[in-house]
Amino acid sequence: MRRKRRALRKPQPAPGKLEKLRTFVNTAAGRRKREELGTPAELGRWFKHRGLLGDDEKLTLDEHASAIAARRNLRSILAVHNGGGPNPEAVEGLAELLVGMRFEPRLEADGSVRFEPVSPGILASLGKLLAIVAVAQNAGSWRRLKICADPECGTAFYDTSGKATWCSTRCGDRVRGRKFRRSYKGRRLRTGGREGLAAVFGLEGGQAE
Ligand SMILES: [Zn+2]
Repeated sequence: MRRKRRALRKPQPAPGKLEKLRTFVNTAAGRRKREELGTPAELGRWFKHRGLLGDDEKLTLDEHASAIAARRNLRSILAVHNGGGPNPEAVEGLAELLVGMRFEPRLEADGSVRFEPVSPGILASLGKLLAIVAVAQNAGSWRRLKICADPECGTAFYDTSGKATWCSTRCGDRVRGRKFRRSYKGRRLRTGGREGLAAVFGLEGGQAE
């Protein structure tokens, strides 16, 4: 049976630090698709503001390219969470990034252990984001972080219901509307005029979606 597609009322934030990662992958998403991290300086400011980069650090063009590639690969993996096919290239890209990263265990005040990235520059910033992924995987929240299935949107959202395909009802309605218009146009071409309209509305026993 075909899975029923659902939408959340509006895009939901992710729990805890996972929200930081969601915000990062949304820096070039949404209908406006405005790139917020277009230069090393913009990326550096964004990371510093969120405690992901030291105040006196400056990023190079290569480091900027690494971060943008990591964002693209993370987005590909989040699309898989929403029913997209596997993307070995994205996994490989992140694996290559991990090769250059070093993590050291740190003991927290409550006795728990966490792994802190100790590589310099952008590797530390991206290492912190990947450490968030590791924690979210253990908590079961990682697979609920998804990319909206509307290709014109692409916003990363946290699926609080566990069944959502679209980040909001607005996206769900738009996709259904486009599908309806394509279906209507196609049937009108095939059958013409009122018969086509009847077919779309299921008046000939067909099922309109
Ligand atoms: Zn959306």
